[in-house]
Amino acid sequence: MESFKADLHIHSVLSPCANLEMSPTNIVDQALKQKLDIIAVADHNSTLHCPLVRDLALRNGIFAVNAVEVNTREEVHCLCLFDTEGQRVKFQNFIEESIQRVPNNPDIFGYQVVVNEQEEILDEIDYLLHSALRANIDEVEKRVHELGGIFIPAHVDRLKFSITSQLGFIPPNLNYDALEVSKNSTIDTVIKNNPLITRKRFIRNSDAHTIEQIGSSYSTFRMEKLNFENLKNAIMGINGCEVLVEF
Ligand SMILES: [Zn+2]
Ligand SMILES: [Zn+2]
Repeated sequence: MESFKADLHIHSVLSPCANLEMSPTNIVDQALKQKLDIIAVADHNSTLHCPLVRDLALRNGIFAVNAVEVNTREEVHCLCLFDTEGQRVKFQNFIEESIQRVPNNPDIFGYQVVVNEQEEILDEIDYLLHSALRANIDEVEKRVHELGGIFIPAHVDRLKFSITSQLGFIPPNLNYDALEVSKNSTIDTVIKNNPLITRKRFIRNSDAHTIEQIGSSYSTFRMEKLNFENLKNAIMGINGCEVLVEF
C-alpha cells in the first residue's frame, strides 16, 4: 500500500475569482514544490484548462484528474472528477448547454481566460462562469455518474454555495461519493451538524485561489497503484483503498 498526497480542488485563472498568477504552468510548479502526487484544477463550470494541466503534470510526474466545480441550479458547488478526455468533453458540453449565460464584467467579477503553457491568452470566456446551471443537484449527480465520474458536494460546511447553506441539510438519498470538508471545520463537526448523514466519506482539499494556498489543505490517498479507478475506490473506501483527511 502506498500513500499519495492529493489536492483535488484548485482554481486556475479561468475562474473569475482566482488570482491572475494561477496559470497551469505556475500551478504545476507549485504542486511540485508542495510534493503533491495528485492534483485537480476544478474551475467554476469549466474544464477548459484540464488538458494542459494534465499534460504539464504528466511531464512532471504528477497525476492530474479532469475536474470542475459545478454550480447547480440551487447554487450548490459540487466537485466533479473524470478519468478520460472523452468524459471531460461530454461533461463540458453538458455544462455549456445548461449554464445560464450572464455576460461577464471583468472589472467587477474578474477575468476568465484560457492560457497556454507560455501563459499567452488563447481565449476569454464572455459569460460569467460563476452562474448557476439550469440542472439541479440530482441531475448533475446523475450525469456525472452516467459518465463514470466522481461526485463530491464541495466545502459542505461553508456558509455560502454549499449543500448545507443552500438546502439546509444533506439529503439522505443524494448519491454522493464523498463530502468535501473545508479547512475551517472538522469531520466530527460536520457529522454533528448533519445527523442525517448516512454515508460518512470525507475528503479535504485547498480550494486554492492563490499560489500559496495550493496544497495548504490536502488528503492522503492510500492505494496499491495510482490510477483513476483506485482513486474512486479510495474515495468510496472500498477494495482496500482509503482516504485520510489531513489537517
Ligand atoms: Zn466553491
Ligand atoms: Zn472552489
